[in-house]
Amino acid sequence: MTATHKPNLAGLSRAKLRALFADMGEKPFRAEQILKWIHQRGVLDIDVMTDISKDLREKLKQTAEISLPKILEDFKSEDGTRKWIVEVTSGSHVEMVFIPEARRGTLCISSQAGCSLDCSFCATGKQGFNSNLTVAEIAGQLWWANYHLGVFEDKAEQRVSNVVMMGMGEPLLNFDHVMDALSIMMDDCAYGLSKRKVTISTSGVVPAIDRLKDYTDASLAISLHAPNDELRSQIMPINNKYPIKEVLRSVQGYMDSLSDKRVPVIEYTMIAGVNDHRQHARELAVLLEQLPCKINIIPFNPFSLSDYRRPSSSSVTNFRQILQKAGYTVTVRTTRGDDIGAACGQLVGDVEDQTRRSERHKRRHAESELAKKDGAKVFGSTDNLAVTADRL
Ligand code: SF4
Repeated sequence: MTATHKPNLAGLSRAKLRALFADMGEKPFRAEQILKWIHQRGVLDIDVMTDISKDLREKLKQTAEISLPKILEDFKSEDGTRKWIVEVTSGSHVEMVFIPEARRGTLCISSQAGCSLDCSFCATGKQGFNSNLTVAEIAGQLWWANYHLGVFEDKAEQRVSNVVMMGMGEPLLNFDHVMDALSIMMDDCAYGLSKRKVTISTSGVVPAIDRLKDYTDASLAISLHAPNDELRSQIMPINNKYPIKEVLRSVQGYMDSLSDKRVPVIEYTMIAGVNDHRQHARELAVLLEQLPCKINIIPFNPFSLSDYRRPSSSSVTNFRQILQKAGYTVTVRTTRGDDIGAACGQLVGDVEDQTRRSERHKRRHAESELAKKDGAKVFGSTDNLAVTADRL
């Protein structure tokens, strides 16, 4: 579990394993054997891999290692949701969440310790950024979920059928590691997940979306959260660099490159008084006219350090109906794992912040709390403060 310079077999895709074995003068099929041992049988001890000759096992032990991140805590929600705290090489703690449903089990995986993008409605963003996760730390989250669910022992009542790269971090800012981890997740000799059931969720890193088609054919979700550039730039600073039109152009390019008919999911976190107006829904319907897509509404999940509020259920219903009348398929994400801090947007872990952003947010939050008290005396309402406190 410590960092060494030996290649980590748990973080090598089939192509990388084949290259490793080619360097050792071994046949390519060794790559498939290793993938199956680690990712299908859950074996981390090279000595147990008995269909590999003793000599080669000895050679592998000298030249490589098998190392996964550590699981520090395992939380179970009343609704069945599981959350695990994972310690990564940098010493930071990230979180992964398993959401069991009647017909599927979704694992929400982290790609970075913290995040540099600072979306104002996201707890991870307020932690600042610490490090990119390695391939083994990303794919290893799926290994651990399978371990805890009893998959390796063949006694699982629930299984991971879907993976969403929607945990902590912007996956496309850790591009190479995420691509290799996806390749392991989708490899038939490893986890064998379908391309339709593995989703990259991005805030819209346009140059990375443009490159995506050369590396994967996984599904795509876009964190849009606003129907125009002015509002999106206020809640998602990345929009200043990659405005909506460029993001949608890039997404369309990726979808066109896929060999089957799939549409992206547009994620829209609804925040009371910020982006939940009927007019925002109408604007969104017009904005997405040219992009076949599904829309997923996520009512904001409150967390400390944020003054944002959850929208009322009537405004969520109105918003959904406007989009549905405009012809869109719309889902509203049910809050899961709220009692263990596992709901969407609430993941924080324990990140050693390299950017000092967490300090800035704590200071700003304290000032906002003070201002609220004063505002309550003077204006008798804190609503406007709540809306603007975290705007950037
Ligand atoms: S929503 Fe995603 S991209 Fe934005 S700050 Fe949170 S983790 Fe980063």
